[in-house]
Amino acid sequence: MARYTGAVCRLCRREGCKLFLKGDRCFSDKCSIARRGKAPGQHGANSNRRRAKEYGLQLREKQKAKRYYGILEKQFKNYFIKADKKEGQTGENLLTAIERRLDNVVYRMGLADSRREARQLVTHGHFRVNGKKVNIPSYLVNKNDVISLKESSRDSEKFKMLIENITARTVPSWISLDKENVSATITALPTRADIDFPFEEHLIVELYSK
Ligand code: SF4
Repeated sequence: MARYTGAVCRLCRREGCKLFLKGDRCFSDKCSIARRGKAPGQHGANSNRRRAKEYGLQLREKQKAKRYYGILEKQFKNYFIKADKKEGQTGENLLTAIERRLDNVVYRMGLADSRREARQLVTHGHFRVNGKKVNIPSYLVNKNDVISLKESSRDSEKFKMLIENITARTVPSWISLDKENVSATITALPTRADIDFPFEEHLIVELYSK
C-alpha cells in the first residue's frame, strides 16, 4: 500500500503545527517545529497564512488531516464519500471514522510511538481483533472489539519497552486499556470531542463539496 516516505518533520513545518509524526522527539526540544516553526523551502519564511485565500485554507486543512493520520488522497477521499452518505455532520463523520482505524487505535493504546510505526506493526501481524489476526491498518474497529497484542510478540525487546511505557500516553475514554493483558476494549465509538487535535473539518467538507 502506498505511503509517504519523505522527511516527516517537513510535513509539520509545511502545515505550521505539530502533527506528532515522530514519537518522543515530538515532545522534546529537538522538535523542528518548536525550533523553527516555519514552512520549508526558500519561500517558507515569507509565507503569510493569514492572507491565504479560501481555497488555500481548505486545502491546507485537508493536507493537515491526511498527514496527521498518515493517509493518502485516494483513501482520504473515500472516507469523505462514506462520511457524506452517513447521517449527521460530514466533517465529524469523516474524522471519527478515521479515528477508528486499527493503526490509530494501536497508537492510542500507547503500543507505538507514532501512527506510522503503528501502521507498520499492524502490517507485520502483531495484533489480534477479537482473537483473530488482523494485519490491515485501515480496519475499522467497532464497539466491544478487543484489540490485543499477539502472545509471541510480547517477549520482543521492542514491545517489552513499549509495554513498560504504555501508561505514559493518555488513552482516550472510548478505549479501555488492560495493561496486564496488553489489550484494549472499544467501549464506545469515538465522537468528535474525543479527537484532541483542533481540526477545522468544515474546511475539508467545503473543499470536497465544490
Ligand atoms: Fe512534527 Fe514531531 Fe517532527 Fe516536531 S518532531 S516537527 S511534531 S514530526
